Amino acid sequence: MIPYSTQLIEEDDIAAVVEVLRSSHLTQGAKVEEFEEAICHYIGVRYCVLFNSATSALHGAYDALGLREEDEIITTPISFVATSNMAISLGAKPVFCDIKSDGNIDENRIEALITPKTKAIVPVDFAGKPVAIESINAIARKHNLRVVEDASHAFGSDINGKKIGSSADMTVFSFHAIKPITTGEGGAVVTDNAEFAARLRLFRSHGIIKKQLWNSDMVSLGHNFRLTEFAAALGLSQLHKLDRFINIREMISRYYDERFEGQRLFSTIHIDPLEQSARHLYPLLLVPELFCVKEEIFAELQQRGLGMQVHYKPIYQNSFYKERFGVMRLPESDHFYRAELSIPCNHKMTMEDAKTVADTVLEVIEKYAYRGCSF
Ligand SMILES: *Cc1c(COP(=O)(O)O)cnc(C)c1O
Repeated sequence: MIPYSTQLIEEDDIAAVVEVLRSSHLTQGAKVEEFEEAICHYIGVRYCVLFNSATSALHGAYDALGLREEDEIITTPISFVATSNMAISLGAKPVFCDIKSDGNIDENRIEALITPKTKAIVPVDFAGKPVAIESINAIARKHNLRVVEDASHAFGSDINGKKIGSSADMTVFSFHAIKPITTGEGGAVVTDNAEFAARLRLFRSHGIIKKQLWNSDMVSLGHNFRLTEFAAALGLSQLHKLDRFINIREMISRYYDERFEGQRLFSTIHIDPLEQSARHLYPLLLVPELFCVKEEIFAELQQRGLGMQVHYKPIYQNSFYKERFGVMRLPESDHFYRAELSIPCNHKMTMEDAKTVADTVLEVIEKYAYRGCSF
């Protein structure tokens, strides 16, 4: 099975973890700080606060904004549920904005959704493709809102050389096993804002400030959302490989782009030449005539050794959301969900694997084409 995404752990990654396991500190030592500084340097940003997942990082970012009951955030439904879940956990309401054909939030539809309760805009760089962050920032400035970018797919992506993470008020990354680099579980918030960074650190560790000797003071409600030292050591080791990993995924993606050019049964997502996508996913978008056979296509590709996935069921289609916020429909998001298939694209693959994937995809989809759907 060639998975749609997976980790690549090498001997030096293992050695880095073992070294920490043999040391005095398994948590709250120097590795977490070292990894935070290395991320700041890589992105070109002042502060980085590591968390034990991107979910807790999102929770922390929303808390740092002061998000609370009755507040609203404007976000995309084409994301993992954590993006909006963590706002709800603070009592806020996610307002879903429809997307563009590339899976990213449609910046032209954001302003119409702003109300006096709106506090933040939360875009997601789908599959690693950068969102239109400059337009989104301009809308936020005009309406006095904050921007939290969920870049869980996009560690290493850039626009014209400017890394994702250096533009929004706060940007969240994930180091889950299948994300661009991994610490097993892990996440981070990066920001240039000292006050946000301080609040994030408090939120991560019980809201406690150390005073003199044994004395400490708990000044705000916090959690234990800390990353371990050995996870940070793995992250640091993986960070040195991020550009190499992205290059591999880029080569695979470009090969797919070529093989799939001019396809009549599906399209792919175009990346602007001035942009770099971390290529976390490689999405195919089936033509509507094939929506009725998508399950069969998925199952056959899976059965032929391709670890397939679909990203994402629009968040509002989940039972919890329907029960709490009512049934909703956003035409582009619903359409995207029906069209999308993520095929294998990971940094463990060889070009030989990529050829196998492309051959299999073309053969299987072609096979179902004649069956079509009647409208
Ligand atoms: C993976 C992911 C998350 C959650 O990340 P974890 O580190 O698993 O908590 C949040 N948002 C998006 C868009 C993701 O892909």
